Amino acid sequence: MSFIDDTVVAAKEWFDVASKKTSEAVGIQKLRIAIAKKRSELSKEYETLGRAYFESVNNSDMDEVLAQMVETIELTKQDLADLKAQLDAAKKLKVCSVCGQKNPAGAAFCNGCGAALPTAAPQPEPAAQEAEPAAETEE
Ligand SMILES: [Zn+2]
Repeated sequence: MSFIDDTVVAAKEWFDVASKKTSEAVGIQKLRIAIAKKRSELSKEYETLGRAYFESVNNSDMDEVLAQMVETIELTKQDLADLKAQLDAAKKLKVCSVCGQKNPAGAAFCNGCGAALPTAAPQPEPAAQEAEPAAETEE
């Protein structure tokens, strides 16, 4: 059952992230939890669809239920795709414009095809710092 496997992997990934102490990981953590929940939701929906299909063999009234379940699953899959996109954005992954490979934020070249990746803009220094007195001058 690949859906269950996915959920287990997602949970493991969450624990890996949870052990990191960066504040950035908090948003990523929340997204991973949301994705794990959504995957489990999807898994249950597939199960419900399977049961509904089984019952529909001898009961044509189930056709409407089947159509409804298919629609529900499509919506859940869409939600899952949105969450994954948000997670990629939170991780600041660089998606290669040539081959679509997801690369770490610091990567200069694509891991998939070797194309040069755009360099991330450096964090702007707060202008207020210039006005501060030079109290911490190194001797
Ligand atoms: Zn590439």
